Amino acid sequence: MEKNNFDIFVIGGGSGGVRAARVAASKGFKVGLAEGWDLGGTCVNRGCIPKKLYSFCAHFSEEINLMKSFGWSIKKKKFDWKKLVKNKKKELKRLNKIYFQLLKDSGVSIFNGYAKFINEKSIRVGKKQIFAEKFLIAVGTKPKRLDFLSSNKIITSDEAFDIKNLPNKILILGGGYIAVEFASIFNGLGVDTSISLRGKKILKNFDDDVSIFLMDQMKSKGVRFLTENFPAEIKKNNKSFQVTFKNCTNEKFDLVMEATGREPNTSFLELENAGVKVSESGSINVDKYFSTSKKNIFAIGDIISRVQLTPVAIAEAMNFVENLSSKKKIKFNYKNIPTAVFSDPSMAYVGLSEKEARKKYRNIEIFVSKFKPLKNTLANSNEKVFVKLIINSSSKKILGIHFVGENAAEIIQGFSVAVVNGLTKDQIDKTIGIHPTSAEELVTMKSST
Ligand code: NDP
Repeated sequence: MEKNNFDIFVIGGGSGGVRAARVAASKGFKVGLAEGWDLGGTCVNRGCIPKKLYSFCAHFSEEINLMKSFGWSIKKKKFDWKKLVKNKKKELKRLNKIYFQLLKDSGVSIFNGYAKFINEKSIRVGKKQIFAEKFLIAVGTKPKRLDFLSSNKIITSDEAFDIKNLPNKILILGGGYIAVEFASIFNGLGVDTSISLRGKKILKNFDDDVSIFLMDQMKSKGVRFLTENFPAEIKKNNKSFQVTFKNCTNEKFDLVMEATGREPNTSFLELENAGVKVSESGSINVDKYFSTSKKNIFAIGDIISRVQLTPVAIAEAMNFVENLSSKKKIKFNYKNIPTAVFSDPSMAYVGLSEKEARKKYRNIEIFVSKFKPLKNTLANSNEKVFVKLIINSSSKKILGIHFVGENAAEIIQGFSVAVVNGLTKDQIDKTIGIHPTSAEELVTMKSST
C-alpha cells in the first residue's frame, strides 16, 4: 500500500473542508484532502448554489405577470426545464473546476475517494494509506429518510435538481428551510404544490409572526399547506403516489419529496477504528476548539450539528486554521448569525425571535410594519413586506431584525453589521433612508406595538 504523510489531512471537500485545506496549505502546512464525490460539497452541488439558480428562475414567472401592468405583454410564457437542468450542470462543472484549481494552486494534495480510519493516526483512501499529525473531518450531512412503503421512489433535495420532467402535482414533506424553498420553486414553475407538515407552522424555530406571515404569503401565491397532517403511508402505483394521511384522507401526487432534516455522513468513515465519539444522532462531538474525543482529530461544519450553514462552516474552518499556529486559541462566536430562506417571498433575519428575546430580557419593545412595496402597486398585487425590530427597552440595543419580502437576504446582510456590533435603535434612526426602498422602513420605524 502506498504511504503518504501530512501535517493536516482534511476529509471532505465541501465549503468548510476546502477552505481549511487551502488556508492551512498557504500557511506552510503540508496538507492533503480526500473527497469521494464532487468538490464543493452539498452547497455547490446539491444545495445553496443550484437552489438559488432555480429560485431566480421560478420567481421570474410572477415577475412576468407583474410587469403586464407596467405595459409589457408577453404573448406566450414558455419554460424549458431540461434547459435549466443542463445549464445548471454546466455551471456546477465550472465551479467544481475552480475548487480543484484553488486547492492545487495552494499546494493541497487531492485524493479522489472516501476516507476510512485505520486508527487515530492513519486513514485509507482506496489503495493509499495516509498518515497525518492532525485530521479534520468536514464530511457534512445527507438527507434524512423516513420509512414509507415506497421510500425508494420518494426524492430528496439530492435528486430534485435533476428530475427528468417537472411533475404536475407534488407533495413536499417537512416544514423547514428545504421544504419551503423547494415549494416556492415548484410553485413558481407552475407545479401544483402542497407541503405536509406534522406541526402547525413552517420554520418552527423562526419568529412566530414571520413564519405565519410567510405561510400566508405563500398560500396567496398558490402553495397549499397541510398542517398537522403528515402521511401515514405512501405507496407508488403505476405512475402516481398514493398518499394516505394521518387524518385518514387519501390523495394522489405525481411526485413526493422528503425534506425532513439531514443526518450525519459518518457511516463510511469507520470512526470507531480511531475511537472518535459521536452523539446519539451520529454527529461528531467536539469541544470549543473543534477537537473530537481524540486530540489530533478535529471536526467542523454540518457534521458537528451546531449551525448547519455554509458561511458558518467556512468561518469554523478559518477559526480551526488560525488556532493551528496561534499561541492563544480563539473560541468561535455563534452569536447573531444572519440567515435567509430563499422562498417566494424571501425572508431573512439576524438576532433573536420575539419568543427568545422575551425569555432572555425583562423588557423588550417590538416595532412591526406591514406595507405594500412600490413595485406591487400598479399590478394591484396583495403581496406585502413584513418588517419586525426587537429592541432591549433598557439598553435600546437591537436584539433582532426580521424581514419578509423581495431581497430580504441582501437587506438583512447589511443590517446584521448593526446587530453584531450592538448598535442601538437610536443609532439606526440617525441613518437617512434611501427612497423609495423597502429597506428604508428599518430606519424609520417610529412607534412600538
Ligand atoms: P430543517 O431542520 O430546517 O427542517 C426539518 C423539517 O422536517 C421540520 O419541519 C421538521 O418538523 C420536519 N421533520 C423532521 N423529522 C420529521 C419526522 N420524523 N416526521 C415529520 N416531520 C419531520 O431541515 P431541512 O432538511 O429543511 O434543512 C436542513 C438544514 O440545512 C437546515 O436546518 C439549514 O440549517 C440548512 N439549510 C439552509 C438553507 C439556507 O441557508 N437558505 C437552505 C436549506 C438548508 P418540526 O418543525 O415539527 O420539527
